[in-house]
Amino acid sequence: MSKIRVRYAPSPTGLLHIGNARSALFNYIYARHFGGDFIVRIEDTDVARNVKGGEESQLNNLSWLGLNWDESPDKGGKYGPYRQLERLSLYQKYANELLEKGLAYKDFREDSDQYAIRFKVPEDQMYIFDDIVRGELKFMSKDVEDWIIMKDNGIPTYNFAVVIDDHLMEITHVLRGEEHITNTPKQMMVYRAFGWDEPKFGHMTIIVNEQKKKLSKRDKNVIQFISEYKAMGYLPEAMFNFIALLGWSPSGNQEILSQEEIIKGFDPTRLSKAPAMFDKEKLAFINSKYIKKLSVEELSNMAVPFLEKAEIEIPNETWLYTLVSILQDRMTHIGEIVDLYHAFFHDQFHIIEEAYQFLVENQAAHILESFRNHLTQSSFIPEDIEALIKQTGLDTNTKGKPLFMSLRIATTGDMHGPSLPVSLSLLGKERVLSRLEQTIKKLRGES
Ligand code: GLU
Repeated sequence: MSKIRVRYAPSPTGLLHIGNARSALFNYIYARHFGGDFIVRIEDTDVARNVKGGEESQLNNLSWLGLNWDESPDKGGKYGPYRQLERLSLYQKYANELLEKGLAYKDFREDSDQYAIRFKVPEDQMYIFDDIVRGELKFMSKDVEDWIIMKDNGIPTYNFAVVIDDHLMEITHVLRGEEHITNTPKQMMVYRAFGWDEPKFGHMTIIVNEQKKKLSKRDKNVIQFISEYKAMGYLPEAMFNFIALLGWSPSGNQEILSQEEIIKGFDPTRLSKAPAMFDKEKLAFINSKYIKKLSVEELSNMAVPFLEKAEIEIPNETWLYTLVSILQDRMTHIGEIVDLYHAFFHDQFHIIEEAYQFLVENQAAHILESFRNHLTQSSFIPEDIEALIKQTGLDTNTKGKPLFMSLRIATTGDMHGPSLPVSLSLLGKERVLSRLEQTIKKLRGES
């Protein structure tokens, strides 16, 4: 059998969408699982829709996702060029061949010598293929009109160029989105016209939103571009993992899988026939699992740009590591650190009524005073603060909730939160002392 060669063939018309990323990913996985080649080819013949920087953005986002390829416009390769606009003479040559064989004809514009070339669809032909995902699919030629293969400006249409390229590039398998199913019989006609073997086709199901509607790029409720996830602090390994589960399932129960595990365990017969649901919660869950696996140092480095952008001052590295370590388990994406920071360390100190009542009921003023007196000499590292909380408990003969919750409310305004000594150490001496003072005054004023 010839070497497996697959390709991802984006049109450089915009950002890398989750659906395209999925096509790229499965071709990549396919190639790596079977020891084949993975090629990136740029289908830029729809000139009006090409976007400046579109190709670069596609490739950058693919590499960010952890994909690498063997041949492409930037890498080269012996089947190049890899941009369709650089292959126009090839398409022209093959279109002429079809004209000569009488399998295509010129379609002149009215009052002009310019012409498009149309493929002459054979009569009473049946096109059957064994789709990798869906099994046997059947089309009749009578349902297809003679279609344009070359426009009058010398640019081929997608269905023609794709066949010439896939053939010349010796592509053996084509995995792409379901929207291309009806293109397949047209492409098969071209293969047959030249007497070429066709590749094996596989059409992946649509991706639907949580309301089971086909995901549309205009759907504002679902973030759909890879660059947006990158900007929010999703990890590429988590995105790879999540996308690999959109329309495919591994044989075991394990859903957190590395790229290597996915490639090793890939089995094309497990590509799903049912629509793939884009489950935001699942993505957040997967990403949080990957965030948990990072070292505090790694995560801190990734968090810094988000904190800086939000103008959160980072006094020193210890403070940063402490902050990150208490928030690590709560983050679904790294950018969330900013919201979590604000949720835990409100700049505006405010005690809600229920929490204030707790202080009143537990006659907390003397606990707070005792703690304040100890704190003035504290170095403010968590271990120190912990010892002082204990000491306050002994001095005031309190423990458990009345001790801990009172101190938490009086310093953070919240009834619950991460480790109290760590929270206080992060808040810093000045803020903690001033909040304690404020709360004590208020309580004393009321008693
Ligand atoms: N340029 C096409 C697209 O972006 C490629 C389709 C195919 O893989 O054949 O949809």
